[in-house]
Amino acid sequence: MQIKEIESNWFELPVKIKIGAMPKFKITGTLLRLKTDEGIEGVAAGHFVNSDEACAIFIRRWKKLILKRDPYDIEAITQDLINYTYRILIGNPIGISLVNCALWDIIGKDLGKPVHQIIGTYQRKIKAYASMPYWMKPDETVKMTKTALDERNFKAIKIRLGQGLDKDKVVINALTDNFSPSELEVMVDVNSGYDLKTTLKLARILESHDHFKWLEEPVFSDEIDNLTELRSQVDISIAGGENNFGVHEFQTLLQKGAYDIIQPDATRSGGISIVKKIGSLAEAYGKLCIPHVFGTGLVQAANLQIIGSLPNCPYFEYGFYPDFILFSKAGSYQLDSEGYVKIPDGPGLSFDLDEEEIMKYIK
Ligand SMILES: [Mg+2]
Repeated sequence: MQIKEIESNWFELPVKIKIGAMPKFKITGTLLRLKTDEGIEGVAAGHFVNSDEACAIFIRRWKKLILKRDPYDIEAITQDLINYTYRILIGNPIGISLVNCALWDIIGKDLGKPVHQIIGTYQRKIKAYASMPYWMKPDETVKMTKTALDERNFKAIKIRLGQGLDKDKVVINALTDNFSPSELEVMVDVNSGYDLKTTLKLARILESHDHFKWLEEPVFSDEIDNLTELRSQVDISIAGGENNFGVHEFQTLLQKGAYDIIQPDATRSGGISIVKKIGSLAEAYGKLCIPHVFGTGLVQAANLQIIGSLPNCPYFEYGFYPDFILFSKAGSYQLDSEGYVKIPDGPGLSFDLDEEEIMKYIK
């Protein structure tokens, strides 16, 4: 089997989103299709980054490393993309990741098996946490949490803080006053919004309640020494890694003790193959590897397949946003009564793309 055609495009929805402490941006993404001479098509799509045009062109620019090659040579193709681009210039992390995910989709479709079974299944279901995309006022936070728990079966949520400690405290109190730690686990994401001193204060507030599981990206993710210092002073788990790429960056983070929980993303950190390796690295360090997941249903699908094979991943980040962002014919994943999502068992990435819908937004 050979790859005979590459279609890499980007899409933009007429909708703006503001995630936590980050600036407002339009929902965009890269859509990649790899077509083989045997009629199998591998599809992958990326997270919203607003540089998707560059990503789509990057993949086309390096087509010579992909075309006419056997999809089963996935490790060689992925390493060639890294060697030709990432080692010399900065490359394009999402572009490399999407090629790897689309190749896995082809391999799974060819074998008629989900990717998690091909790389080795560890778990068939995973506890989901509702990842709230926006910073919300206290009453809205309580209302959304109730909806997640009562109507969708979630047992865990993630909130966005980082608007100043005074505002943070009011949101924290609203949650801890209204929900017991046994009914609700809470993750906190600051999206790189604070400095070390402010983070230390926030961490101590969170530690005084039993609800809080981890504090994510509290400072700019390049401040590795500050993250190490933070971890030496607090007990709450520190999580991060969604803005890192490749085994070497994660090795540095683990060696320096920057995080308790690393969060690579199959569509950003190098693909399913690379996240599998990063997961093993974390395992050797005795750390958790809980992938970052945010974006279209194809981002969820790729990450769920790797989650199915990771022995050190106890949670799935489930974006708590409207279904139209997913471009999924099957709709959003349903949770069972215990708050778990089934790891999809269809061939490849096991995703049924709503072609008609996504094509409306292709640029
Ligand atoms: Mg995050």
